[in-house]
Amino acid sequence: MAEIQTTKKGRILTGDRPTGKLHLGHYVGSLINRVRLQDEYDTFLIIADVQALTTNFEEPEKLARDVREVALDYLAAGIDPEKSTIFVQSLVPEIAELTIFYSMIITVNTLRHNPTIKSEAAQRGYTDMTYGFLGYPVSQAADITFCKANLVPVGEDQLPHIELTRKLVRRFNSLYGPVLVEPEALVGEVPRLVGLDGAAKMSKSLDNAINLSDPPEEVERRVKNAVTDPARIRATDPGHPDICTVFAYHTAFNKPVIPEIEESCKKGAIGCVACKKRLTATLNELLEPMRERRARYEANPKLVDEILLAGTARARAVAKETMAQVREAMKINYFPW
Ligand code: ATP
Ligand code: MG
Repeated sequence: MAEIQTTKKGRILTGDRPTGKLHLGHYVGSLINRVRLQDEYDTFLIIADVQALTTNFEEPEKLARDVREVALDYLAAGIDPEKSTIFVQSLVPEIAELTIFYSMIITVNTLRHNPTIKSEAAQRGYTDMTYGFLGYPVSQAADITFCKANLVPVGEDQLPHIELTRKLVRRFNSLYGPVLVEPEALVGEVPRLVGLDGAAKMSKSLDNAINLSDPPEEVERRVKNAVTDPARIRATDPGHPDICTVFAYHTAFNKPVIPEIEESCKKGAIGCVACKKRLTATLNELLEPMRERRARYEANPKLVDEILLAGTARARAVAKETMAQVREAMKINYFPW
């Protein structure tokens, strides 16, 4: 099969687990870069449904809905299906095949020492882990390398996984020949957006997020409940913006107001209620065009399915080509004629 030609700078692969709706953390950590770079790079976006099962295997029936939710969030955020390839992981079985081959050349201890795996396991209270959960970075390496991506826009928590992918690529290429491409991570301007609880990163699974699809009243309600400086009781008490979640969001979403808000908070000249009102207005302004685009696609679910099927067909063609090269390099192409 002919290589799918591209005149772009290179290829991007990144994606999300369909475990719920996408939130502001996704937007600043990765989505914003994808939208910005989709003209320059041949962009592949994976909806990682198999990876979702590594923690949500008890409820596989939710995937059908969540796969479409993530697709809608991409389209709402400004991903153009004419430019970017959106596809579903489980419908590209070559990724699973590649994962198995990689699992031969990575050790269990390397996986056990991965700091993101450790903190996610602790957060979920796992005393033991499934083979699939421990190994999900290996599956991610297959996601990235089947399409020979050179750039991976991700949040900070993903950096150990990209390092592991690079290590696997080097190991594979030195063992079998130069087939795979070593990718680079591209972390967003806000590498790790804190959740509304002020404790963990904003996350789909922790109920501490503002979703891209939240209506204005929900954004208002969620911002009202965001944790601020606990030492501030009265509006005139001097505040500590460096430990305030609301200030972190002003920093991420409304750069021009940072010096002014910082100063007035420290002096006790702006209260938390007023500060939150300003944040709500900023966020709703950002989200409004996304709500409009989302509503247009929501009204046409058939079109969304067509976009996913066309993207998946394209991803599969690329995957078949890479797997033929992988098998040839590994000398497991017994019947090449
Ligand atoms: P889950 O809780 O189900 O794991 P999640 O919110 O962590 O969901 P993922 O699908 O695991 O989202 O992550 C998808 C991408 O978004 C990754 O590149 C990740 O680094 C990035 N990302 C997720 N949350 C944040 C955040 N709070 N700040 C910056 N980037 C984030
Ligand atoms: Mg996650």
